[in-house]
Amino acid sequence: MKINISNLSEGIHDYQFDEPSSEIGLDERFSNAVSVQVKLEKRRRQLFLTGHIETSGKFVCDRCLDNFDRRFSLDYRMAYVYDESDAGEVDRDEITVLKMSTNVINIDEDVKEYVLLAIPLKLLCKEDCAGLCGKCGENLNHASCNCPKEETDSEIIEIKPKRILSKN
Ligand SMILES: [Zn+2]
Ligand SMILES: [Zn+2]
Repeated sequence: MKINISNLSEGIHDYQFDEPSSEIGLDERFSNAVSVQVKLEKRRRQLFLTGHIETSGKFVCDRCLDNFDRRFSLDYRMAYVYDESDAGEVDRDEITVLKMSTNVINIDEDVKEYVLLAIPLKLLCKEDCAGLCGKCGENLNHASCNCPKEETDSEIIEIKPKRILSKN
């Protein structure tokens, strides 16, 4: 996803990119294309980019191990400057310093990074995923089992020590 900035006139320019996720280095979970809508505002000493990223893929639920589809829709900003002092109030991680000789901006790496940052630490097929039974392994989203409930659920095991501490 490349934008030619040589001889770009001042003002706002729009771009639309659609690329296979693998082209920008996303892993095979991202089975569908990445589309990015870019608005680039060229000023005398800076270029301000806002990007809207859409993609989706197939993921494995951390709790029940089922496959599920997940969409990602996110926005990001990047300021391109030739000298950091021209960046003004912009956050450091939203600044890219260009060389005077740079003719082309490649946004692949930024798009990839922002998509990866958007993956939650715990990937769940749904907010209230019931998970697997710790005893018999049944997927409790699809069926119930007859195992005694107290000790089996991994969520309860995680919380228990805290409860004991607060009582004493
Ligand atoms: Zn799940
Ligand atoms: Zn069970």
